[in-house]
Formats: sequence, structure tokens, C-alpha cells
Amino acid sequence: MRYLCTSCNFIFDEGIGDQDSGIEAWTSFDDLGDYFKCPVCEDSADAFHEIKEEVNYIDNHHTRDPMEVDHFIEAERIWDKLKVTIWNGIHPMWESHSISSISLFDEYSDLVEEIFLPMDEEAIAEFDFDDLGEYEIRCRCTLHWVWGKKFQE
Ligand SMILES: [Zn+2]
Ligand SMILES: [Zn+2]
Repeated sequence: MRYLCTSCNFIFDEGIGDQDSGIEAWTSFDDLGDYFKCPVCEDSADAFHEIKEEVNYIDNHHTRDPMEVDHFIEAERIWDKLKVTIWNGIHPMWESHSISSISLFDEYSDLVEEIFLPMDEEAIAEFDFDDLGEYEIRCRCTLHWVWGKKFQE
């Protein structure tokens, strides 16, 4: 998730962290602790607000929109697990451009689990999820925002 410093408009992105402050990429904002200060204006964590993001939904299975193709979400059930693949696993996983996390939401749009992906590995996540029915997958690209797809089993 991303957090905006309301004092100076600095954006803290969990998928990027803050190298200068020694905060590694994919550190949860809630785990930063009380001593965290905005790297720019030094205001406290209380000054930060979570940025609610719009999700780009991919509805068309035969899309040719290059941005949709590059962030296309596929879910495959393997026994009681749900394997999620972004763009056949070949979406870039570089420091400058990567899928930082893949999230699973239940039929009520409540977050079930968010899996943060390590760099240089494939854009694939596996969820322990055996609920049949409706669910939604979202993936966060550090360059191209959030993509979502609804599934029905
Ligand atoms: Zn600030
Ligand atoms: Zn991307």
C-alpha cells in the first residue's frame, strides 16, 4: 500500500521502502514503529494517510490493450491452493518496475491476504484458499498502479 505524508506530500510506498532511511522494500507501514519520521519533512507517522487507489479492472479475456495484457491476472486452482500468475509470470521484477504484491479479496471485497513478491523472481503467488465462489485478485505494479480481476468458480 502507499501512504501520503499530509505535511509535505511525500509518498511512502511499501513496495519500495526508503533506502536512505534503511527501510527495505516491502516493509509494512504498520511495522515501521514509533520512531519512523517522514524522510522529507520529519513529521511523524500520524501525518501519513493511506492512499485509496482505484483499481483498473480487466474484464475482457481477449483484451489486446497492451497495458492489460502486461498485467493480465490468471488464477489456477491446485487442490486447496490458488496459484495466481501475472502476465504468464513474465511481468518484469526489476527495481524500477515490478509487481510488488498480489492480493486476494473475498466476495465481500475484504482483504484475505496480500503476498509481497521478492524481486528477480516470477510474478506468481500462491494462496492457501479453498473457499469456492466469488473472489477478486489485485496486483500492484510499481510503475502501472493496481490491476484487478474478479473470478467466479
Ligand atoms: Zn512529510
Ligand atoms: Zn507493470
